[in-house]
Amino acid sequence: MTIGKFFFSDNTSGLEIKNNGLESELIVAYLKKYEKNVPLLIKREEEVVFKEPLPEFILSTINEKAFSKDFYFWKYFPFNYRKVPLSLRNAILWALMKRGKFRDGTEIKQFVSFIKYLRENKFYFRGNGISIFFLEAPLLLLSHDIETANGFKMALKMANIEESLGFRSTWFIITGEYKIDESVLNELVIRGHKIGWHEFKHDNRFPFLSQKGMEKRIAKSMDFIKKYNVKGFRSPSYLFSEKMFKKIREYFAYDSSRLDYDIISGGRQKGCYCPYPFLLESGLLEIPVTIPWEIPFISDEPLKDYWERKIALLLENNALIHINTHPDPHYSGNGGMMTRYEILLTSLRGKNIKNVSIEELTGVINAERC
Ligand SMILES: [Zn+2]
Repeated sequence: MTIGKFFFSDNTSGLEIKNNGLESELIVAYLKKYEKNVPLLIKREEEVVFKEPLPEFILSTINEKAFSKDFYFWKYFPFNYRKVPLSLRNAILWALMKRGKFRDGTEIKQFVSFIKYLRENKFYFRGNGISIFFLEAPLLLLSHDIETANGFKMALKMANIEESLGFRSTWFIITGEYKIDESVLNELVIRGHKIGWHEFKHDNRFPFLSQKGMEKRIAKSMDFIKKYNVKGFRSPSYLFSEKMFKKIREYFAYDSSRLDYDIISGGRQKGCYCPYPFLLESGLLEIPVTIPWEIPFISDEPLKDYWERKIALLLENNALIHINTHPDPHYSGNGGMMTRYEILLTSLRGKNIKNVSIEELTGVINAERC
């Protein structure tokens, strides 16, 4: 999560109580750093005191400062990793995921309830340079990354499932790797779906290119971006860098390259821990993905059960239920996975959760900001 280990509990048991003789104080949240406890929140009698490192702690957590160097591995990868056969890539992914305790969502639960506690105690986020856009009710966002030309064959079937329930989604397209089936995209647009950019090449290098390198790839994709009125970006493999966000801000209204809880990158828990829209350091609006639907596809647990706990957490906290799937046949574009997707969406429909596109949500937030 961040440098040091984070502890939070609004329950009086199990937390440090200091007594200076006159009044007692309860440490509600603290960071353990180099064997020292750095208090973030203190409760004195009925008053909650926000300690000085609190804003910095929140900002470094949502911007994943502690992990920013981890991603640079891709910068030195000698060829497009997608040339490695898929079965081998999945075996590697499986090994990485096994290494981490990927079923344990304790850390994100803790951070989300910490944020809730701050709001209840009137912590002034904006005044401390933190722009998180809390919601009045949970929102359902749907998106898809088309990874291969075969993904187009299944896209309309997937869209049919969504439309039968009254939902629409956003389709992120790679512009320089496969033949784009424009008839499918045109059909999606007519039916009310939106198109996003999933980069020019899915070689995981974009976030680490020079300004010029990034610009070149954007320029090569500009006809597509204009034609489909693309407003947002999703980086391949959810990789990012601060310089990438700066560049993306010049061309797009939002980014959606972040996971609130990332269990695949390097087998340890990362993520922004923030299941709400928020502003990145560059000022670009981030709409994080909270349900990377296929992630546990290699686990033996049924997908719906796997995600049920996460969805409950998101519902409870009026957060974004942002499901991202891949319509390619080796991910979600096959009978079994489509049935599971339909079951999931039907159950969300039953809960009466409002569905909007990422673009619509972005428009509302950016209008408020002006
Ligand atoms: Zn992708």
